[in-house]
Amino acid sequence: LGARAHDFAIEWVACCDSTNARLVDAPPTDDGRVHVLVADRQTAGRGRRGRQWLSWEGASLTFSLLWRFAPGTPAPAGLSLAAGLALARALEQLGVEGVQLKWPNDVLVHGDKLAGILVELLPMRGRPPAAVIGIGLNLRLPADAAIPDQAAVADLGGALGGEPPSRPALLAAILGEFHRLFETYAVAGFPALRGAWEQRNAFADLPVAIRGESTTLCGTCAGVDDDGALLLRTGDGVQRVLAGDVSLRPL
Ligand code: ATP
Repeated sequence: LGARAHDFAIEWVACCDSTNARLVDAPPTDDGRVHVLVADRQTAGRGRRGRQWLSWEGASLTFSLLWRFAPGTPAPAGLSLAAGLALARALEQLGVEGVQLKWPNDVLVHGDKLAGILVELLPMRGRPPAAVIGIGLNLRLPADAAIPDQAAVADLGGALGGEPPSRPALLAAILGEFHRLFETYAVAGFPALRGAWEQRNAFADLPVAIRGESTTLCGTCAGVDDDGALLLRTGDGVQRVLAGDVSLRPL
């Protein structure tokens, strides 16, 4: 895929609306490094399709990184799945057990949502393709945290059964895994990571519903393909489902 930058340039701010929005709307000058923006507090963290990502100062790690591709490379496939895998591996290294991935962009621990990922492609405007990868990781959810539409949420403190590592230590561990991921993904793309993703697929061979704006498809989760599309086994055979505007729910 021709990605080239492996060094990180980290900016850590006290507060911003959304680290993804900042990097999408005002990308830093390309100096050959992967730019990382971390915020102690996000006032308008975002999820897919206008949904919100909620975070609490001191209780969440929220950051985004901007990864640029070499000129002429096609839009990256399976990038949000690849990013989930990097985060899952970092958490496993830290001793978290039961880490699983929920297509297309969530990291679960024992079935509960621990982290979310939001990948947004930068408008090209004559520039080489670039992606902003945003991560929100719960460290210690406040007792009164009210998260819409999520019955099952988790935090790292609970998953580790104790105090989570400091945010700088966590960030270093996660960026280390992203560095490894970029090396593989840049050369071989998502197909090289697909097996590792599927090993952690929370819904492998389980019945699921895929909810779109106006339709719901039901079937069994039969894995993902080389582009990161979900493979859904239904009475009519296996269908490819693109992440665009659907959400997966257990049945
Ligand atoms: P899902 O399928 O899990 O509902 P999604 O992948 O379709 O999520 P995202 O855009 O990834 O949606 O994430 C936004 C959703 O994540 C929100 O609508 C909310 O339900 C949930 N959410 C928001 N903040 C948190 C949080 N801190 N921890 C866990 N879940 C959260």
